[in-house]
Amino acid sequence: MNGITASGRDSATELVLLEGPDTLIGRLRFRTCVACRTGRILDVWVLETWQRQGLGRELVHGLLARFPDHRWSTTSQTREGRAFFAAMTRETSIPFPHRGPLCTHLSGRMARAWHALAVTGRSARPTRRGARAGGARR
Ligand SMILES: [Zn+2]
Repeated sequence: MNGITASGRDSATELVLLEGPDTLIGRLRFRTCVACRTGRILDVWVLETWQRQGLGRELVHGLLARFPDHRWSTTSQTREGRAFFAAMTRETSIPFPHRGPLCTHLSGRMARAWHALAVTGRSARPTRRGARAGGARR
């Protein structure tokens, strides 16, 4: 399914990557404020067997394509998260600071339900190297 579900000021939205019709392999949760053109990335998750293949990057690009000219912040970042967002900033010239919401509308309580958006279906195959796939080594 495609299309953007209206994202109100107290709702959160997720971009998802699916393999086949219904296998969730990646997900980026975020909130946006249409009025202030601000957004907040809540988390980026990629299934372990699909890590290190650029899926997180693909999710961020999907997000930026849907919400151009927004200013972004993220929730607190792990060490891997900091490296990831630093790389995204180098690539896109868009900063992703981990700090508080950029407008008051984004600081409200979490939405009761997530709106799911599919970025794209996947046709590639996951790696099957198991233990190595989730490693933090660079
Ligand atoms: Zn706002």
